[in-house]
Amino acid sequence: MVNTGSGVVITATGPIDRLDRFVAAIVEEHPPLAEIASIQSKRLAIASTAAPSTFVILPSSDGGVNTAIPPDIALCDDCRRELLQPSNRRFRYPFTNCTNCGPRFTIVRHIPYDRPQTSMASFTLCASCASEYHDPADRRFHAQPNACPQCGPSLTLVGTEGDTLDSSDPISATATLLARGLIVAMRGLGGFHLVANALSAEAIALLRRRKQRPDKPLAIMARDLATARKYCLVDETAERLLCSPAHPIVLLERNPRHPLPEELSPDISEIGVMLPYTPLHLLLLYSEQCPEVLVMTSGNNSGAPICTANDDALRRLAPLADAFLLHNRDIVTRVDDSVAKVVAGRPLLLRRSRGYAPAPLYVDFTLPEILACGAGLKNTFALARGNAIFPSQHIGDLDNLDTYEFFQESIAHLRSLLELEPQAVACDLHPDYLSSRYAAELGLPLHRVQHHHAHAVAVMAEHRLPGPVLAAVFDGTGLGDDGSLWGGEVFVAELTSYRRLAHLSQLRLPGGDAAAVEPWRMALAALHRTYGAQGALLHLPAALRSLEPERIDTVIAMLEHDFNCPATSSCGRLFDAIAALLGVRTRMSYEGQAAMELEALAKRARPIDWRRDFLPNSPSWLSPFLESRDGKWEINCQQFVTMTIDALDKGEPPPQIAWKFHRQLTATLAHLLHILAEDTGITQIVLSGGCMQNSILLEGLLLALPTPEIQVFTGNRLPVNDGGVSIGQTIIGGLQHVSRHPHAGHQRPG
Ligand code: ZN
Ligand code: ZN
Ligand code: FE
Repeated sequence: MVNTGSGVVITATGPIDRLDRFVAAIVEEHPPLAEIASIQSKRLAIASTAAPSTFVILPSSDGGVNTAIPPDIALCDDCRRELLQPSNRRFRYPFTNCTNCGPRFTIVRHIPYDRPQTSMASFTLCASCASEYHDPADRRFHAQPNACPQCGPSLTLVGTEGDTLDSSDPISATATLLARGLIVAMRGLGGFHLVANALSAEAIALLRRRKQRPDKPLAIMARDLATARKYCLVDETAERLLCSPAHPIVLLERNPRHPLPEELSPDISEIGVMLPYTPLHLLLLYSEQCPEVLVMTSGNNSGAPICTANDDALRRLAPLADAFLLHNRDIVTRVDDSVAKVVAGRPLLLRRSRGYAPAPLYVDFTLPEILACGAGLKNTFALARGNAIFPSQHIGDLDNLDTYEFFQESIAHLRSLLELEPQAVACDLHPDYLSSRYAAELGLPLHRVQHHHAHAVAVMAEHRLPGPVLAAVFDGTGLGDDGSLWGGEVFVAELTSYRRLAHLSQLRLPGGDAAAVEPWRMALAALHRTYGAQGALLHLPAALRSLEPERIDTVIAMLEHDFNCPATSSCGRLFDAIAALLGVRTRMSYEGQAAMELEALAKRARPIDWRRDFLPNSPSWLSPFLESRDGKWEINCQQFVTMTIDALDKGEPPPQIAWKFHRQLTATLAHLLHILAEDTGITQIVLSGGCMQNSILLEGLLLALPTPEIQVFTGNRLPVNDGGVSIGQTIIGGLQHVSRHPHAGHQRPG
C-alpha cells in the first residue's frame, strides 16, 4: 500500500473472488473516519514470487497532490479509556491519540500527511510508540501524531511573566486556579482558549471586563453528556452533534431546573456547549478540583484571530489571564471551534471550522482551479478544483488587520497544501470588502458574484440541486446588482444566474454603517417610512424617548433630506428596527445582537401549541403585507411597524409583540413562496442567509412550506450565514469562468 498525491494505491494478490470481496469490504467495512470518495481497480499480472507476502506501507510518493487533508478529530473512546486507566502507559497523558482521533489539519505543514511533514517532526518516537506505529494490527499503526509521556509533547503552567508555576501536575494546578475564580489561557488544538469557572458569576464578570466583551455569549465546555443535560436541553440530534467526531459547540436552550449564570449569555435563551475534545480537556474537567462546566472562549483580543503560539499568547493575553497552560506541540494552522444548532430536529452548522475544515465538498460538475475570497464579515474563503470544493476554516471579520493577515496566510497555506494554482478568482460584488480588494489585486480573471446569489448557491451545492429553485435569502446587507443594498430576497436561482422575484420593501439606513450597530436609527427610519417626519415623532415609543432629542432630530432630518441614508431591503435591519421599537436594544455590542435578543424575547411568549400557527394560512389576513407591483412582489415592512406600534399603544407586553412579529413575518414569507411556486412551477425551495439562523423563522418555514409537491432545503452542513458565501462564489465564479474560457475546466496535465 502507498499514499500517493492522488489517493491510496493498494496492490493485493490472491484469488479473484477474494480480491472482489476485499474491494467490497473497503467500501462497506472501512474504519469510522475513512471516507471513500471513489474507488478504481485494475488487474495486474504479477508473478506469484514477486507478490509481497505481508502487509506493507511504502513511503509516500510525491506526485500531483490531490489527497484531501483530514480534519482534526475528537478523542475516541479507546483513547479515552486508556487515559483514565491507571495501569496504562498513557494514563493521564494529555497528548494521547490514535488513527481514529487526534490532531490533523492543525499540525500539517505539507502533504502527503506524514509525521515528518507535521509539527510532530521534532518529537522522536520512543521504542514502544515506534512499534505501535509500525504494527498493522495496532490501533496506532501509522498514527502520525502518535506520542506517549516518554517521547511526546508536554505541558507547563506558567504565570503572566512566563515564570513556571507548576510542571509536575500542571492540569491539577490549573483546575485549582479555575476553582478559585481565576482565568487561565490554555493552549489547545487549533489555538488558545480563555478558561474560567462557568458556575461563577464573578469569574464570568471578570473575564468579560478584561476581554471588553460586555454581552456576547460565551461558549462553555461540560465535563460530559450528563453534565450538558443537567444544564441544557439536549435532544437526540444535539446529542449526536455533541458526540460526533467533530465535537462542535452546539447552541442549546438552558435547562430551567439548573440555571447557569445569566452572565454567560445575557438576554439570549441559548447557550453554546461543547464536550471535551482533546485528552487535555478531559483530564482538566475530570480533575478533582475542577468545576464541571468551564467557560471556553477564544483566546484573543476582541476582533483579532485566536492566538496559537506560546510567545504571542504570553504577550497578547497577559492582561486577560492569570496563568497560562502551555504545551510544546506547535499549532501550524489556526482553527476555531465549530458551531452548530438544531432546528426542527435537523442539524445546522453555523460555523464550519474545527473538525470539518478543510474536508472537501463534492459537486456534480467540473470547476477550474479557482479561489473564492468570501464575504467581509464571518469570512471563509474556498479553493476548488475539478469536482471538489475545499472551504477554509472560519477566518473572521476582515476589518481587523490581524484577521486580514490570517486570511492571506491561510490562502497561501491551503493553496500550498493542495498544490493548487488558481486560474481565476471570485469575490463579492461589493468592491469595498477587503476580500474583494484582495481578489482584485491578484491580477487573475475576476468574477464578481452577487452576495445573496452566493448564499443560495451554497445551499444548492450542499443538496446537489441543479436548479432552478426558488431561493429565499433573508440576510444582513449585501450589494445588489441595482446598486442598492439587498437582504430580504426571493430569487429564481440557477447555478450561474438568478432573477429577483420579490423582496422586502426598502428601509433607509441613516448614517450607513452606523445604522447596523445602532438599531435606534433603524427604528426611526422605520417610523419615518411609515408615518412621515411628523408622524414618526408622534408615534415615538417609550423605548426611544430616552434618546437625546438632538440625535433624533438629526436622524429625522437626514431621512427628510435623504442625506447619507442608503436604502436596503435587508431583513436583518428590519429585525433591528422592531427590536429597538420594543426597547430590546438600541445599541449593539456584537453583530446580530438585537435580532438574537428579539428572538429570545419572542420565545418567552410562544404558546405551547405554537406549531399550529404555521399550518397553511388563510390568504386574506396576509394581504396587507404583500404587494405586487410591476410583476414584482414586495413584503411591506411598514405593516410590521404599524402592527408593532398599535400593539404597544394597546399596552400589549413586548414578548407577545415580538412573537407576533416573528409569526407574521414567517407566515407572510411562506404565503409568498407558495404563490411564487404556483406561478413559476418550481417545486424546490432553498432557504439561506443569516436570518435563517433564527429558529422561529426557520422552523416556521419548515412547517409551513412543504406540500406533497414542494421540497424545502436549507444549509445543514454548510453555514447559511456569510461563512457559506465563499462556497457559492467558487461555483458561480468557476462556472462563469468555464463558460468564458471553454478549456478552463480541464484538469492540468499530470
Ligand atoms: Zn483514539
Ligand atoms: Zn513514546
Ligand atoms: Fe450575507
